[in-house]
Amino acid sequence: MKYISLNYNSKSTLFHNAVKRGLAPDRGLYFPETIPQLPRSFFDGIEKLSIPEMAYRVIKPYVGNKILKEKLMEIVTETLDFDFPIIDINENIAALELFQGPTLAFKDVGARFMARSLGYLNQDSNEKINVLVATSGDTGGAVANGFLGVEGINVFIFYPKGKVSEIQEKQLTTLGHNITAFEVDGVFDDCQEMVKTAFLDSGLSSLNLTSANSINVARWLPQMFYYFIAFRALKSKNKRLVFSVPSGNFGNICAGIMGQQMGLPIDHFVASTNVNDAVPRYLETGTYNPMPTIQTISNAMDVGNPSNFIRIQKIFNNDAVKMKKYLSGYRYTDQQTRKALKEIYDLKNYIADPHGAVGYLGLKEYLNQQKEDLYGVFLETAHPVKFFESVNKTLKVEVAIPERLKDTLSKEKVSVPIKDYSELKAYLLD
Ligand SMILES: *Cc1c(COP(=O)(O)O)cnc(C)c1O
Repeated sequence: MKYISLNYNSKSTLFHNAVKRGLAPDRGLYFPETIPQLPRSFFDGIEKLSIPEMAYRVIKPYVGNKILKEKLMEIVTETLDFDFPIIDINENIAALELFQGPTLAFKDVGARFMARSLGYLNQDSNEKINVLVATSGDTGGAVANGFLGVEGINVFIFYPKGKVSEIQEKQLTTLGHNITAFEVDGVFDDCQEMVKTAFLDSGLSSLNLTSANSINVARWLPQMFYYFIAFRALKSKNKRLVFSVPSGNFGNICAGIMGQQMGLPIDHFVASTNVNDAVPRYLETGTYNPMPTIQTISNAMDVGNPSNFIRIQKIFNNDAVKMKKYLSGYRYTDQQTRKALKEIYDLKNYIADPHGAVGYLGLKEYLNQQKEDLYGVFLETAHPVKFFESVNKTLKVEVAIPERLKDTLSKEKVSVPIKDYSELKAYLLD
């Protein structure tokens, strides 16, 4: 499989180069040259495959031969080494919990797959790779955890000072070893700007910089697994499936659409956002008009200009009419999100998190407009404890802290304060 740049100004390249580079030399996102098709027999017998066997078949055509068969099987097995429960909310709506991984965020899957793949692909090289990643909260913890202890790779995480929760900050700043946390005096966009500047800085080209945001194909593509896992689990219901995905940078939902393009029988996708609604507005007006980021209680989706939207446009050949056949989009305010948290709790005693609650709202709105008998799944992308301030205040219940988090919370924070780019550059070159 070759990958092309969506800026169309770089040569196409193989998986291992796309992973090592993150972005193409012309700054475009990589996209597979063709979308592989899975045979009918794969879906007919999917429940007979184990989850790692299924995931292997899905990802294999994208990876090629640089990762040997046994090794790739080992990588997907370790990547998916936790549960993905489906919780009924009512007769035609369920939550797919993606937060049972080590950092309680769905990003664990992409981060673990990328860390293991990159570590393996770089093992015979004597050059170190330096991974830079900007985070508004959840990405950093998952990436730090995924890469911890991987030989030959250093990870630098940029987070906005005072703008991530205590749990999130601890997850970024307590690991040590090959993980460094930069505490940036600014907002998330400043973090992202620093990372972008570093990538463009020819003075840093000797450092082999790459990115672990969902622009990297090794973080983006494994997110397809969630949709195959859900289909496999729900197949016996014999229902037409709709997925509602709480979306920020649109990597997760775009991976789902890739799965559908490979043949996975999914009827429709709902992009559910907070008031950072560039994509729902596009679906209404046909014009893509990104806006500055607005802060909300579902802060992992506070993205004004979603980087993966260009991949969704590519899938549908920039045809908005075609896109709308498969994708709807809705936006919700914080007030509506809090109301949804309560509604879900009243229905099932289920404690959702603000991102999942946005997903639930989008799903309900879409299903209410359809006449067919559909079954809807919204993705629960984070454990509610990560957002316990808004959850506790809204539901007036205490969310219990899972055992695996207690150890992290007891450790000392270590971060490097960064004021501006020149400080960062000096640090990296040192
Ligand atoms: C990252 C994140 C999202 C958004 O995912 P995208 O792939 O960026 O659209 C949603 N919810 C949570 C909890 C997240 O951490």
